[in-house]
Amino acid sequence: MLKIYNTLHHKKEEFVPLNPKGATCYCCGPTVYNYAHIGNLRTYIFEDILMRTLRYSLPVKHMMNITDVGHLTSDADAGEDKMALASAREGKSAWEIAKFYEKKFFEDFDSLNCYRPDIIARATEHIPAMINLVKTLEEKGYTYKTSDGIYYDTSKFADYGILINKAHLEGLKTGARVDFGEKKNATDFALWKISPTDKKRQMEWTSPWGIGFPGWHIECSAMAMQYLGETLDIHCGGIDHVAIHHTNEIAQAQAATGKQYVRYWIHGEFLVMSSGKMSKSAGAFVTLDTLKENGYSPLDYRYLCLGAHYRTQLEFSYDSLDFAKKSRHSLKAKIASIKEQSNGNNQKTEFLKEAKNNFVSAMEDDLNTSKALAILWDFIKSEASAEEKLQFVKFADTFLGLNLLEEEKKEISAEAKKLLEERAEARKQKDFKKSDELRAKLLAMGIVVKDTPRGQEY
Ligand code: AMP
Ligand code: ZN
Repeated sequence: MLKIYNTLHHKKEEFVPLNPKGATCYCCGPTVYNYAHIGNLRTYIFEDILMRTLRYSLPVKHMMNITDVGHLTSDADAGEDKMALASAREGKSAWEIAKFYEKKFFEDFDSLNCYRPDIIARATEHIPAMINLVKTLEEKGYTYKTSDGIYYDTSKFADYGILINKAHLEGLKTGARVDFGEKKNATDFALWKISPTDKKRQMEWTSPWGIGFPGWHIECSAMAMQYLGETLDIHCGGIDHVAIHHTNEIAQAQAATGKQYVRYWIHGEFLVMSSGKMSKSAGAFVTLDTLKENGYSPLDYRYLCLGAHYRTQLEFSYDSLDFAKKSRHSLKAKIASIKEQSNGNNQKTEFLKEAKNNFVSAMEDDLNTSKALAILWDFIKSEASAEEKLQFVKFADTFLGLNLLEEEKKEISAEAKKLLEERAEARKQKDFKKSDELRAKLLAMGIVVKDTPRGQEY
């Protein structure tokens, strides 16, 4: 059975679902106003590993939202609408922006071999559920109105801040030094923002409080409860969500239902750059496309993430990515040669059983992926038969998702891509001297180019 660190109780706990027939899990999804950066993607890889490990022993209903409503540039309900900013930046409507970046997000998600969630819910398609939740909170006396919206009064919820430690909570409260306008407490947050009367927003809806748009936190609580019930087994996200987003989700949901909202809160640590934090709103960040353009496979990045524990910060560098790439390639080369030696038969031996048990124990010990990888390497180098090794690899890969038994697709770098284009052009111009020179250059990069009736192939 899985043991996992529960942020709610600040310790590792045995995971026991509310319903023994299956677990429910909600993961905070992307805000689709820009490309996901590799930090965001680290969180989705960790969540995928969690899903795969849970599914070893029970079915899981996995849900993710798409934040396609522009919540504001700061968690504190201030600043501009991120979707509107992106719309102005790119000269497209906010709806087109959301559609474009959602599609791009899932391309990245798929290429990292993350399993698609069973339920994917867009915020813009669930506004009535959010309005209903705000209405309930209003009826129960947890809200108040200001000139720009309906706010949640955090002083009314006795358990406010149970996810965070006291010192941190006091810090949030004494953000009171900063001007927080008409809010009664520094930690209060918007449930519904009312549109200004002199301006038409691209994304706005009618509500009992006027035309406007929902706050970010209400989005996740309303949709999670609509699909998964009032008490979820698991809720995940990056560590940045603990202090505000998830803290506010608990306040809303528990005040509305009187029940525990989430039983296990599970958070992944950040990917950082040596220069500091990687952040979408700061603009400077690395995407999966950047890695691909530099000749890395998305699975090299997945391998890199698996080498670190999800609860430790990971500092990204191209050196460490190179190392991950080399290790993954050498692992796959070893597996390919084992495949050639194997007669394809299944073998059930004690040795294999024990190795599988060790592997599962590592994964079920708070997702110890680096230990699990080490166990896989040890087994591959061991005296086990080729058949046992292949069975073990197949088993391990259901957890790791590294496509270990598939033939590797060749990723080419941006530089090689450019040379290939130049060579195709040289051939078109019948400049065979140049095309031969380029072929030699590509060969030196490990790319064998052949000229076929369909054009050049590599
Ligand atoms: P966002 O699209 O900004 O709402 O974030 C999507 C997910 O990525 C959330 O679960 C965040 O907590 C997580 N996240 C944001 N920045 C990072 C980072 N640098 N490293 C790891 N996860 C991150
Ligand atoms: Zn969320």
